[in-house]
Amino acid sequence: MKWTNWSGSVTGAPSEIARPKTETELAALVARAEKVRVVGAGHSFMPLCETGGTLLSLADLEGSVELSADKTRVWAPAGWSLAKLTAALWEEGVSLINQGDVNPQSLAGAIGTGTHGTGAELGSISTAARAFRLMMADGSIVTCSETERPDLFRAARLSLGLVGVATAIEIDVLPAYHLEERVESHPIEEIEERWDELAKSNRHVEFFIFPYGSHVALKTLNPAPAEGPLKHMTDMDDRLFKMVCDVCSVAPFLTSRLQPHIIGPGVRQRRVGPAYQIFPSDRTVKFEEMEYELPRANGWAALKEVIAWIGKRKLPVTFPFEFRLTAADDIWLSPFNATPGASISMHQYAKMPWRDLFAEAEPIFRAHGGRPHWAKRHTLTARDVDTLYPDAAKFKSVRDAIDPSAKFANAHLMQLFDIQGRAA
Ligand SMILES: Cc1cc2nc3c(=O)[nH]c(=O)nc-3n(C[C@H](O)[C@H](O)[C@H](O)COP(=O)(O)OP(=O)(O)OC[C@H]3O[C@@H](n4cnc5c(N)ncnc54)[C@H](O)[C@@H]3O)c2cc1C
Repeated sequence: MKWTNWSGSVTGAPSEIARPKTETELAALVARAEKVRVVGAGHSFMPLCETGGTLLSLADLEGSVELSADKTRVWAPAGWSLAKLTAALWEEGVSLINQGDVNPQSLAGAIGTGTHGTGAELGSISTAARAFRLMMADGSIVTCSETERPDLFRAARLSLGLVGVATAIEIDVLPAYHLEERVESHPIEEIEERWDELAKSNRHVEFFIFPYGSHVALKTLNPAPAEGPLKHMTDMDDRLFKMVCDVCSVAPFLTSRLQPHIIGPGVRQRRVGPAYQIFPSDRTVKFEEMEYELPRANGWAALKEVIAWIGKRKLPVTFPFEFRLTAADDIWLSPFNATPGASISMHQYAKMPWRDLFAEAEPIFRAHGGRPHWAKRHTLTARDVDTLYPDAAKFKSVRDAIDPSAKFANAHLMQLFDIQGRAA
């Protein structure tokens, strides 16, 4: 049986792929399998879902959203996509606190990898998790929260699927809100100068910059009163961009000449709509990605250094960098642990070579104190994990107790967390 992730860079051959409809069905599958991985939308670039054993999708598992009486929390099926979840929440009069660029990810996949959007004061989606309903290796169910099995809860907040199969997750929500999105182009020097003020004065702020571009596409999102029906369902039209990527994939030397024309002066766009429709955008051009979360004060220096390195080496990096902000948290495996972050995403067109590019750029991010996004390309070793994450030992001790036979671990994660047992 063949399985491939979204970008096409990870392929696997699970012995079985199953889509259980009930927890009883799921329990039977988990209890009898020797090795289990769960897949959400398969949007991770790292081989997190790769397995030679049983690959489970929880997309069809029965369940519904259950809102707390005070409407501040909701239990939601872990396998639902953020698209399905946020539409259902809107019907209930609530919204997620923050979202990333797209919404096909499953709730459990987003929480399990520390997926984040942007906002100087806003944490990753993992920080919104309040409780988990988890299936253990023998098919039994436990729940955990800050007050019930607190150590398991702390591990589950960002677990890469290593501490059980999440069937439902309780998350914080806000009263439903609309967002005004503005996308405007500005010279990069101007944005660097205004950055601290932009970060303070906008609930969400980020920008995209091509390595050979002079202008950034600055995107801000702020709560706003509702307006008429939403006319455009995405932030930027990427048809011209796709053409440029295709040209550069056969003539890489044109990258530096074509890129400055994609984001030029004079871009001014505005739209207002329900938050759950404004947050996600279409990302139709397939890419591979590495993302490093830098201590916030080092973000600009790291970005400028990596762009200068690309320019000096004339490297054909066809995608823009994305620069975002995330608040600090206290999650054991979070790259934002104790550190307000500036995130730098480095992408490459999926049809072009990316492995050497990322491997050479990675030391720049590491030298600036960066920790990688777990779902995106990195080359951390077990020793790096222990060095970068002071709480890794706590996570490992919970994992060892929960799953001593390493049923839920695959080869990649066994290497990363020094887990003993059968790898497949
Ligand atoms: C186009 C695109 C845009 C993206 N945008 C962003 C962004 O804006 N911000 C950001 O931070 N990241 C972003 N990402 C990364 C993405 O959010 C993460 O890879 C996320 O994990 C994907 O969710 P998924 O459902 O596809 O998870 P998968 O890749 O399927 O799985 C991720 C992990 O979660 C585990 N898992 C899944 N379901 C369960 C479950 N029920 N129980 C236990 N473990 C489970 C898996 O085993 C695996 O370890 C993007 C990726 C792509 C391809």
